Amino acid sequence: MLIHSMLPRSAVNGPGERVVVWLQGCDLRCPGCWNPFSHGFDRSRDKPVDEVGEWILSCQGVEGVTFSGGEPFQQGTDLRLLCEYIKLRRPSLSIGVFSGYTVHELVQGQWHWRSPRSDAWVKGDFTLFAQIRQFLDFGVFGRFRQTMACSDKPLCGSRNQKVVFLSDRYSPRDLQPQSYEVNILLDFRQRTRGARAKNRNYCESRDAIFSSCLAALTAASIATQLREADSDRSAVTRRWEGHLPSWYSF
Ligand code: SF4
Repeated sequence: MLIHSMLPRSAVNGPGERVVVWLQGCDLRCPGCWNPFSHGFDRSRDKPVDEVGEWILSCQGVEGVTFSGGEPFQQGTDLRLLCEYIKLRRPSLSIGVFSGYTVHELVQGQWHWRSPRSDAWVKGDFTLFAQIRQFLDFGVFGRFRQTMACSDKPLCGSRNQKVVFLSDRYSPRDLQPQSYEVNILLDFRQRTRGARAKNRNYCESRDAIFSSCLAALTAASIATQLREADSDRSAVTRRWEGHLPSWYSF
């Protein structure tokens, strides 16, 4: 399956602490999409499903995994295999998904997925959706609409999107207000992740200030991080969290 990136621990992509896997590939092209680099179906990012599954299971201190993108359902058969792989080995791990499709589209077969073998598009259907859905505890569904962007609806980048609970594991009480999260991997890559990060294009000047603050925070902290790092730097992450400043709103 095509993987954009993977994060071993996050607190802004669903209830509790979660692994996050961003799948590579999406043709929905929402204006203002948080990450256009996740759109191409780039074969160089192909990983075996069991390898991704084992990596997820190796992550410590998490209660679940969230699949985001890219568009996870556009790799429908591999997504189903990966969910099954995880649930068979760790039934207690919850699974969530961020999708640009609405539930209505997925139920009605108004979606498509790309064959992992031939790159051909295949029409999605209710059966495949139901096979994936049986493994899911929650989902955030719907396109990102730049004109409806919001910062006060948990997990949703725009007001049209909906959080749907697909099992009895979670309820609205488990959702936290939107917040930001900065992860620094000590192999010198910096990542900013979170629901608000998806909306950065529509308030660029504010975002520039916000980014500068984060960069300053990063610069001030990185020396300390490096002193604290153990010999396996790539395995060490540090994270800062906080609620968004009030001015960073639409
Ligand atoms: S916001 Fe999500 S669904 Fe929309 S284009 Fe970007 S990755 Fe695709």
